Amino acid sequence: MIPYGRQNISEADIAAVVDVLRSDWLTQGPAVERFEQIITGYCQVGNAVVVCNATAALHLACRALELGPGDWLWTSPNTFVASANCALYCGAQVDFVDIDPVTYNMDVDALAAKLEQAERSGRLPKIVVPVHFAGQSCDMAAIRRLADRYGFRIVEDAAHAIGARYRGEPVGNCRYADISVFSFHPVKIVTTGEGGAATTGNAELAEKMRLLRSHGITRDPARMDRPSPGSWYYEQQALGYNYRITDIQAALGASQMQRLDEFVARRTALAGRYGELLRGLPVHLPEQLAYTASSWHLYVIRIDAGVSNNTRDEVFAAMRQAGVGVNVHYIPVHLQPYYRNLGFQPGDFPAAERYYQEAISLPLFYDLVDSQQALVVNALKRALQ
Ligand SMILES: *Cc1c(COP(=O)(O)O)cnc(C)c1O
Repeated sequence: MIPYGRQNISEADIAAVVDVLRSDWLTQGPAVERFEQIITGYCQVGNAVVVCNATAALHLACRALELGPGDWLWTSPNTFVASANCALYCGAQVDFVDIDPVTYNMDVDALAAKLEQAERSGRLPKIVVPVHFAGQSCDMAAIRRLADRYGFRIVEDAAHAIGARYRGEPVGNCRYADISVFSFHPVKIVTTGEGGAATTGNAELAEKMRLLRSHGITRDPARMDRPSPGSWYYEQQALGYNYRITDIQAALGASQMQRLDEFVARRTALAGRYGELLRGLPVHLPEQLAYTASSWHLYVIRIDAGVSNNTRDEVFAAMRQAGVGVNVHYIPVHLQPYYRNLGFQPGDFPAAERYYQEAISLPLFYDLVDSQQALVVNALKRALQ
């Protein structure tokens, strides 16, 4: 089976991990600091806080922005459940904004309309989480203008988008957002096995996330509430978590970051080749807006019942049968049983629901070779007959 995503691990990556294993320090230590510096340098942002996964980073972002009971967080229904769950962890409520049928990102016009309504009913969100679906940035300048008008904070879920660019600048630089979040899960662009990061231009938010990453404990005498009686002393100042990442993982991440541009270049080339090979087939190809440069986490096509003889489900089954590990991203979050129990229903976000019926993610990863890509395309052509 050709998987839909797969990590690439080099000998240099392995050597970097082995170096840590031979060192005195395994958990959060010097490699974590090094990894954070590499991310801040790459993203041209003031601060990076790396943690055990992106779900934890989203949770810390919400905590740092003081999301709590009575507050609302809005996100896209076309995302992984973590983008919404982070609000529920904080005792806040979640709502969604439907997607744009071209980019599959949060629809900015729908956001503007929903904000206007929410203002009238006194239910404006405290945080909006735009998700850069498949690696293509949302229109952050437009969302920033709405944030300035309605007073919400922005946490970008950039789990798909490290290495992507928006209006010529790196995603994660936080020009428009309060905090950006990356994932280093093995199917994403850069991996640490499990891992995530939050970037921010705001040093105070970064400090809060650092504190909460490790139980809310500080060992820095300068930050303590009480005089330190000795060097054993530490203070818990907030209710934090153990969201630390290990130096083993951070060393892998730091090493992988050296090849980030190469990873994105290869994914971009493969996406371009899919575009050529699939031209003329009765499917919708992913459209890219002029002001974005995607990191191409996913290559999603749509099987439109009005255009194709076959349904997505039939194409999916035929391709899996042919050894092609296609996937579906995403089941709209509001249709998950947990969210239905909160009152969401089919029909609430029709663009995301329609998209979900039609979407299929083709294999796309650094090591996908041309012959495998041809096999994928041939399997698709047969499935569409
Ligand atoms: C993968 C992913 C996450 C969660 O990442 P983890 O590192 O696995 O916690 C969050 N949001 C989106 C959009 C993702 O794709």
